[in-house]
Amino acid sequence: MERQFTKEIESLRLGDGETFHGEGILAVTKALLQSGVSYVGGYQGAPVSHLLDVMVQAKDYLDELGVHVEACTSEASAAAMLGASINYPARGAVTWKSIVGTNVAADALSYLASAGVMGGTLIVLGEDYGEGGVVAQERSHAFALKSLMWLLDPRPNLATIAEMVERGFELSEASSTPVMMELRIRACHVRGSFTTKRNLAPAVSTRNRLDGPPKEFIYDRLAHPPATFRQEKLKSEVRLPAARKFILENRLNEVFAGSENVGILVQGGLYNGLMRALRTLGLADPFGASRIPILALNVVYPLVPEEIVGFARDKKAILVLEEGQPEFIEQEVATFLRRADVPTRLHGKDCMHMAGEYSVEALVRGLARFLAPHAPHLDTSGGASWLRELKDAKEKAASLLGALPQRPPTFCVGCPERPVFSAMKLVAQDIGRPHVSMDVGCHAFASFEPFSQGNTLLGYGMSLAAAAGVNPMSSRRAVAVMGDGGFWHNGLLSGVASNLLNKGDGVLVIMKNGYASATGTQELISSPPEDARMVAVGASAAGADRTIENTLKGLGVNWLRTVNNYDVGAMARTYREAMTTPQKGLKVIVAEGECQLERQRRLKPQVADKLKKGERHVRVKYGVDEDTCTGDHSCIRLSGCPTLTVKDNPDPLRRDPVATVIDGCVGCGLCGENAHAAVLCPSFYRAEVVQNPSLFDKLLHKVL
Ligand code: SF4
Ligand code: SF4
Repeated sequence: MERQFTKEIESLRLGDGETFHGEGILAVTKALLQSGVSYVGGYQGAPVSHLLDVMVQAKDYLDELGVHVEACTSEASAAAMLGASINYPARGAVTWKSIVGTNVAADALSYLASAGVMGGTLIVLGEDYGEGGVVAQERSHAFALKSLMWLLDPRPNLATIAEMVERGFELSEASSTPVMMELRIRACHVRGSFTTKRNLAPAVSTRNRLDGPPKEFIYDRLAHPPATFRQEKLKSEVRLPAARKFILENRLNEVFAGSENVGILVQGGLYNGLMRALRTLGLADPFGASRIPILALNVVYPLVPEEIVGFARDKKAILVLEEGQPEFIEQEVATFLRRADVPTRLHGKDCMHMAGEYSVEALVRGLARFLAPHAPHLDTSGGASWLRELKDAKEKAASLLGALPQRPPTFCVGCPERPVFSAMKLVAQDIGRPHVSMDVGCHAFASFEPFSQGNTLLGYGMSLAAAAGVNPMSSRRAVAVMGDGGFWHNGLLSGVASNLLNKGDGVLVIMKNGYASATGTQELISSPPEDARMVAVGASAAGADRTIENTLKGLGVNWLRTVNNYDVGAMARTYREAMTTPQKGLKVIVAEGECQLERQRRLKPQVADKLKKGERHVRVKYGVDEDTCTGDHSCIRLSGCPTLTVKDNPDPLRRDPVATVIDGCVGCGLCGENAHAAVLCPSFYRAEVVQNPSLFDKLLHKVL
């Protein structure tokens, strides 16, 4: 796993009146235990991976409390796990990245929301929306609306986040409804502190087990007709009013008074950005006192009509700040005001942009637009001059730097997935470019230069399924690329089983790097066991497990090859065979090479230990002989390794820059392999850096 959470695990033990310091997402973790959660599950994904990672690493402590932790194989399994709270008074929490994870979990969530819950359930969503988002730009809000599940969006400070976790469970129980809590990237990583409470041992737990199923069998708890017809009515007639009552009585939303007769309704998660914007406009002080009254919605669904109308009634105009589209909140607020016959002017998306993140810059512009007609007496010139300065700084930077080359994201140095795409690129030069169906994971970087392979991206584990329609219509076999994480998440059933059922053709490349790497190298069912990883320094650990191959064989895949990624020649031969063999049916290449990032994490302490003990250690590096390099940069176009770059040609008679390998090279060997497989110029050399040399090394050095 990418991090050890030793310090964070200690903070989970804090008791009454102590102070927790750390990140927002870890405050959630502590607050779950303070709430007496019985079970926790989830599927990793930024920005909420740390929640589950900490829980998994804190297993011993959680065992003491009786809390069960499950590293689920998908968001669907995590959502289904919440079924434990339908019949039993057990509080449960799960986490994943949204919107993608919520899409995967949708089926189980619908059923859960229909049946309703007895024990409180909280779904912690990493709302991956905005400039740092890496998936489809959609909002979880739509899921809350369609299923009538409640959605919290706490103000990003640790005390509010922790409180909303505890209140979220209570709200869930008061209204028999699952509650979701969205945390944007910044909220997950915001740092701060809060005063802790002691952890509660759960009412139902691994230490306090259930005595069988409920004594009385209750049909109404099954999301199945005829119960579903009643459940549909319960949602709007009983659960929704109960939730609104709880929200109002417990003041889950916060009103910040101000002196003006205009107001702002803001999603809780945007509150910090709003305060920064108000300060920039000269309308708030550094301690959070604002001249404009604010209603911060820590609960963005359901909205409470009395609360909204009460806030708006005495104001000339209100502005709704709601990031993303469509404007769900604004539309509902408009309905409330109209029904109550309140004439307050309503603004929102007419002052702000519809799609995209609300940065401070955008908020300053939008607020100025809102205030100009409704509070013209306010001096907002500070905001205007800040925007001018910002514009000048950007223009100055652009004129100084000129047009910068695009810098697409790419694989880590020495990544085992890079050689596979080098081999695919080489073969495509001979047989023509195939349609490449890409998947979610590190290998998606091959969609960018210099590989430019990847025509579609349809979701995690979906690449082979996404090629099913293309393959029968293509003159060349379509290729699907999938990581081992994606394979276990969805690829095995949605892709492989479907292909076999339909007697499909085509090629599937599975990147078996040993972990769910892109999300922080979490373990998979096929991860090599710990002892197999501790092989001699330098060896690959990904080969110690054959679960993927055995599963594929068991399912009936007849054409199956496992190839060492770094052997570009062997990979190219195998890939060519898969693309050209007359044999029909699915052809699977398991490309085997351990995630380099995880490998380095694993090896670094071992190497440091060896060096400390004065033992001999050899580190491999590659280099380019600048006299031989022709300067055509074919090697760079085949590799894309960030440490293989260019420098000025030292030869005054040659103008083209030469290739060079800078210090970060981890000696993965791809440079040499590519030079060999693509018959490039013979400028690459392999060097061995010997640390703590032996007598023989020293002697050899003198002789040479
Ligand atoms: S995390 Fe691992 S698999 Fe992903 S790009 Fe880096 S080395 Fe490659
Ligand atoms: S050998 Fe080449 S591809 Fe591998 S890490 Fe070094 S420079 Fe990068």
